[in-house]
Amino acid sequence: MTSFDAVELIRVKRDGGTLSDDQIDWGMAAYTDGTMADEQMSALCMAILLRGMSSDEVSRWTGAMIESGERMDLSAVGRPTADKHSTGGVGDKITLPLAPLVAACGAAVPQLSGRGLGHTGGTLDKLESIPGWRAALSRTEFMTQLREVGAVVCAAGDELAPADKKLYALRDVTGTVEAIPLIASSIMSKKIAEGVSALVLDVKVGSGAFMKEADSARELASVMVELGEAYGVTTVALLTAMDQPLGHTAGNALEVAESVDVLAGGGPPDIIELTVTLAREMLAAVGLTDIDPADALRDGRAMDVWRKMIAAQGGDPDAKLPRAREMHVVRAPASGVLQRLDAMAVGVAAWRLGAGRARKEDPVSAGAGVLLHAKVGDPVTEGAPLLELHADSGDRFDRALAALEGSYEIGSAPARTQPLILDRIGG
Ligand code: URA
Repeated sequence: MTSFDAVELIRVKRDGGTLSDDQIDWGMAAYTDGTMADEQMSALCMAILLRGMSSDEVSRWTGAMIESGERMDLSAVGRPTADKHSTGGVGDKITLPLAPLVAACGAAVPQLSGRGLGHTGGTLDKLESIPGWRAALSRTEFMTQLREVGAVVCAAGDELAPADKKLYALRDVTGTVEAIPLIASSIMSKKIAEGVSALVLDVKVGSGAFMKEADSARELASVMVELGEAYGVTTVALLTAMDQPLGHTAGNALEVAESVDVLAGGGPPDIIELTVTLAREMLAAVGLTDIDPADALRDGRAMDVWRKMIAAQGGDPDAKLPRAREMHVVRAPASGVLQRLDAMAVGVAAWRLGAGRARKEDPVSAGAGVLLHAKVGDPVTEGAPLLELHADSGDRFDRALAALEGSYEIGSAPARTQPLILDRIGG
């Protein structure tokens, strides 16, 4: 590989130029093996944040990240493979009902996931609230489960895009997380390395999301769709609303219980709508259009796969889920219609109650979180429960209540609600 000087790469981006393929390949390899120092990569990321990248540059940058590790071969699975990635939101437990639902309809879903950080919960944290369930699988266990059950949600190992791990930690402490080319390449390098043939992206927009505005969410979605297609993965993105939490729960075991309700044929309408819509997209992307996932959810086939999926990873699908020791009820201060319930505030409250972590080494509480008694547009009665706060220790309530201050509004007019699915990109 041609060798370059890191300062030369930084100057190119600083001055608004375009990096060559060789410069990108060298830069990523040099950073991964330590030849390029953290401070040099920080400067390069900042220049990228300020100047942007051309689509060729993002594509090569993503390719170089994939090349830093392994691209999995799922051809032995024997069914078409599809995955979903969400950019993260409050109460976003969709993977839990979605993976078994899509598997019940004939595709295989290999979801290599991470733990939560900050106000959005991680899928592995949620599943770990099920007694006995384990996130770490060997490669053989992963492939066997994917073939036999059709759905696996487990911890991503170090083999997929290791450059991203190092780079993401650096971006986190250098104010460079928000660059769209860096977000898109980070997400897509891991998903492309996973080896799936189709990917559906759920790009959240709103107060509880990474992207607060539809325009930036649309731009991120377009870059990711283009990257997926460039690397041979059929990719579609949905822009979905994240102004209020999804469903009625935010918190690990609370979200598992709500997901099981959905798999049992009940659950909140927004969770059902998003789960079925994403399932249809995933199935269509691999050419499976003869089964309606709404039927497989209704008639219990998805629940059957869920039970197998949990049991295959040591979990007991019939075990009682952990409950927090303490509960505090927030009552509606007036009667009327709930006009607004801020997703970010609920996410921060759940986090402060113990459901999330501030540093990646921190433990999480399985039972902690927030249960919503009303969603935007619902009638509420003065004095009736509006929110339930769950925590293992009562001294967490004050800070959670402080996060919720000013986060909801009750009025007499009908609430202005927006559709859950805002836009669709690709396909
Ligand atoms: N999630 C990722 O995996 N990477 C980012 O850069 C942002 C969110």
